[in-house]
Amino acid sequence: MIKLESNSLAVGFDENNGSLVHLYSKLSSWPIIDREKLGLSWRLMLPLEGRRNNNAWGHLQKKPVCIQTDKCVSFTWDGVVSEFGGEHNICITTVCEIKNDQAVFSMKIANNDLVYVENVYYPYFGDVRRPKECKSLSLMHGGYSDMIEYSLYPTFPNTRGYFGDDFPTILPIFTHNTPPVYPFALISDDQGNGFYMGIAERRIEAATWMAELHPGYSESITSRVPDTDTIGKWDVFTRFGPVHFPFVAPGTIFDLLPFGVEAYKGNWNKGLACYTKLSKSWNKLPNDIPQWARDPHAWLQIHINAPDDELRMRYTDLPKVGEDCVKHGIKAIQLVGWNNGGQDRGNPYHDTDPRLGTFDELKEAIANIHAMGVKVVLFTKFVWADRSLENFEKDFEPLAIKDPYGDYYVHPGYQYHTASQLMDINTRRLIPMCFATREYIEVCKEEFRKVVDLGAAGMLYDECLHHSPTLCCFDISHGHRYGVPSYSNDEVLIAEFRKILNGKEFLMGGEAVYDFQHDYYHVSYTRTWKPDHKPTSRLMRPHGTIISAIVGFKDRNMINHCLMNRYLISYEPFNFKGMPSDYPETTAYGAKMDALRTEMREYFWDGEFCDKLCGKVIHADGKELDSYSVFISKGGNTGMVICNYEDEPVTVTPIFDEGTPKQYRLVEDKELKAFGKTLTIAPQSAAVVI
Ligand SMILES: [Zn+2]
Repeated sequence: MIKLESNSLAVGFDENNGSLVHLYSKLSSWPIIDREKLGLSWRLMLPLEGRRNNNAWGHLQKKPVCIQTDKCVSFTWDGVVSEFGGEHNICITTVCEIKNDQAVFSMKIANNDLVYVENVYYPYFGDVRRPKECKSLSLMHGGYSDMIEYSLYPTFPNTRGYFGDDFPTILPIFTHNTPPVYPFALISDDQGNGFYMGIAERRIEAATWMAELHPGYSESITSRVPDTDTIGKWDVFTRFGPVHFPFVAPGTIFDLLPFGVEAYKGNWNKGLACYTKLSKSWNKLPNDIPQWARDPHAWLQIHINAPDDELRMRYTDLPKVGEDCVKHGIKAIQLVGWNNGGQDRGNPYHDTDPRLGTFDELKEAIANIHAMGVKVVLFTKFVWADRSLENFEKDFEPLAIKDPYGDYYVHPGYQYHTASQLMDINTRRLIPMCFATREYIEVCKEEFRKVVDLGAAGMLYDECLHHSPTLCCFDISHGHRYGVPSYSNDEVLIAEFRKILNGKEFLMGGEAVYDFQHDYYHVSYTRTWKPDHKPTSRLMRPHGTIISAIVGFKDRNMINHCLMNRYLISYEPFNFKGMPSDYPETTAYGAKMDALRTEMREYFWDGEFCDKLCGKVIHADGKELDSYSVFISKGGNTGMVICNYEDEPVTVTPIFDEGTPKQYRLVEDKELKAFGKTLTIAPQSAAVVI
């Protein structure tokens, strides 16, 4: 066996076939892969005419050429044999190298054959064993500023439906949750034993995660994983890894997106830290965020028109919204549905709606609100074309993302207000447009200019985080390669917009932006309504500006949650159809919270967010409380936010890894008080402890 070691892992390969046959976590004495016969190296899907599902498996090839150094092992297969295609003139070189204390798996594909290399499974773990004493094992990956979790043991879902696979299979289909958009996945048990797998290079490619349970369930009523190593004559094992969709064309060479693996011990925060140590070297927040958006402040989101013609407010009435914001100390308005046809209609056009007023009336309203000290940020959307537009076929269909059959993909769209529309009878369908075609980028630029010309303080580009349901575009008449990743020009689009601005102050906002997008968007607008929300984006970008929506009429818990996760508040009474004065209890409590974090910004704004790391909170009964987070000030002092989401008071003991709690303050207190031994927090309240 050929062995490599990092600080957390021991890795072993079979030199006869390049398979990964040994993977061991030194941090938790966990043999992750230890049944050599189940080891795998890679798998390629090489579609043949009349037999698309044709695979080549690394471990079934002739012996590769192996080169080993101290921290690196490479295998080269000069020629590949597939199940039904015989020999292919494809050269595969895999490299596993210890880099940044991770085992990094990369692959070069030189395709001199007549087939495409369409799917690549690599690195491909043939057998993810659960730790011996564990009661549960799960797979987590990021999604919409949070984490998404699947059970791998004792149950295992089949996310793709049992008709389409031979084994229960987990595969995230929403393309905005796949790597590199959410760059990592964690497999961990209930004892804090975990391993991380994540991208090892900052590059957009098309990939997803895939886990398979072999041979299947022991019993299907509860999707139960067999407890034993074998069931009948079958081995029981779980395969796992990223699947890439590179569509490597004949006559081309392709470097697969590399993935690194590292073991960790602790909660998911520890797993994510394996990514942030890389992210810090790749990524940087933009330094041109407008001054007004740099400090703790609050937003209002308000929608004034929808596809079934709400027509709630004329542009000339908008200053009233500004006045109400002034009254409640709100700094910015995200204005939605101002475009012709309303929210989610008429995309990608960004013209004013004559039924709401004129271009000049909107421009004047924006200027009036700005004069009050409140900023207007216009809702925009560039990812789709509305299929119901008269000129859709002529102007937009040619530029839409196409599937391998030459058809455009369809996003189902969004429904508003009328029963007909809520039943999806007359929804405006949204067609994902190809950003890899220059012509469409030019269309977007023209639309963006309209927003700038209105004098807006910025834009909130809704759905900038995705191109669902697409992952690749196959229309080579667009001037790109066959199968180009749909997300590959997201950054280019915003760079083009910045050229139009030519240095003018303008807030670039986006919805629930993915990690790379934090580099070129100033703010991320998201929704985080979950008591057990996992602040994935916040932890990846401790100082990124993230805004979360608050809709409840006495929404103390969400306001406390915003303090705990360093989210700005977006006030949204009546599901963003109302005014700040519609829910005075919520805005009043929010103002107190923002006052607190402004006064204590050294910790809770300028400090480093650590989530559950660097401290813990113990209940009177000895159990741990989960609703807290830790911030470390620039001076190295610990601050903690503790939320009580319950309807009863709670008495807790905060424990810091460094130092001891000296003072505390509830959101409703005016000043800090001396901390005793424990702290009692009223129902639906939060305390800060420093
Ligand atoms: Zn295209």
